[in-house]
Amino acid sequence: MSILVMKFGGTSVANVDRIARAAKRVAVEVAKGHDVILIVSAMAGETNKLVGWVQDTSPLYDAREYDAVTSSGENVTAGLMALRLQEMDIPARSWQGWQVPLLTTSAHGSARIEAIPTENILRKFGEGMRVAVVAGFQGISPEGRITTLGRGGSDTTAVAFAAAFDAVRCDIYTDVDGVYTTDPRICGKARKLDRIAFEEMLELASLGAKVLQTRSVELAMRYKVKLRVLSSFEEQTDEAGTLVCDEEDIMESNAVAGVAYSRDEAKVTLTGVADRPGIAASIFGPLAEAGVNVDMIVQNISEHGQTDMTFSCPTDQVLRAQKALDEAKDRGVFSYGDLVIDRDVAKVSVVGIGMRSHAGVAAQMFKALAAENVNIKVITTSEIKISVLIDRKYMELAVQALHDAFGLEKAAA
Ligand code: ASP
Ligand code: MG
Repeated sequence: MSILVMKFGGTSVANVDRIARAAKRVAVEVAKGHDVILIVSAMAGETNKLVGWVQDTSPLYDAREYDAVTSSGENVTAGLMALRLQEMDIPARSWQGWQVPLLTTSAHGSARIEAIPTENILRKFGEGMRVAVVAGFQGISPEGRITTLGRGGSDTTAVAFAAAFDAVRCDIYTDVDGVYTTDPRICGKARKLDRIAFEEMLELASLGAKVLQTRSVELAMRYKVKLRVLSSFEEQTDEAGTLVCDEEDIMESNAVAGVAYSRDEAKVTLTGVADRPGIAASIFGPLAEAGVNVDMIVQNISEHGQTDMTFSCPTDQVLRAQKALDEAKDRGVFSYGDLVIDRDVAKVSVVGIGMRSHAGVAAQMFKALAAENVNIKVITTSEIKISVLIDRKYMELAVQALHDAFGLEKAAA
């Protein structure tokens, strides 16, 4: 017996017709002999509606009741999907999180999965059930209360089930047909990737390629769950979509797998800060306490014992950052000359595990940007990523130029 995990997102189950269409996909896999664990999201827009109702009723809501309300969208789809499958003579039943049970921490609104005992579902498969339709996004706390896993959490539910049941694969059906080399809305030459490594996907996911919840990719990487992202709106073959997998399963790769961007960045520079031990801690401590998500950090070489410190953060956190720095200055924690803020920057990154073995990726990237006369303001690198901060007005140009420079429209030979 082989277990396949399938997950359908909100747009794929947005109404009863779409549920019927998804059920047909499930029937194909059942006919191949798989027992299917089918994770469903709430119908598109449902969770937002429920969150809105909670906020309207109680602005400082009790998070336990928030979870009780917002988890309910998935219950509806799970029940409807089970009914649809039964109509097709496929033995199926719905499972809410607590019935499985999917055990989580008590961090309501963003609970983490602790364990998924497999006995109950396995017993039902043994008795002839072919599809376990599981409500995504929800679980049960040690106190016996309903929990949710954070927005987009059904992806994480799916991967966790695939790990717990040692599934052959975890297929995530969504409204895009896979993971692309970059955003097709910005670059017409963007190409769907057949395969991408977990680490690359993590970098792309956290850089804003919103295909999968980041936590689901972390989980898949830890348990080596083969994840496939594919469209529920197209006829499927076994090769459809993008396989997110271990790098060992990728035979050939380009140095760069994809180009990611983040549009709303700001650059903040503190001039004339003392160059002494502890200065970085005294600047970034108050920023962290204020909840500012500092991303890139650059400290210039010092002259006469003074230096400039530059960092980037999301544009909508600039005021908070400014306030935290001003207050720290007033308290005499440290001093600086000027606070120079540039709100009109964007971050563009190239990502690829191939960088570990290909030299000169950074030089190639800078050359491509220079050829377009794009000035680089800040650079950071990691083992598999190079990011630059540039003027926002050149962002699309930069993405296109880098996509060309690294030949991403063509698959690796
Ligand atoms: N319905 C939940 C949400 O919209 C969970 C999910 O669909 O992944 O966040
Ligand atoms: Mg989603």
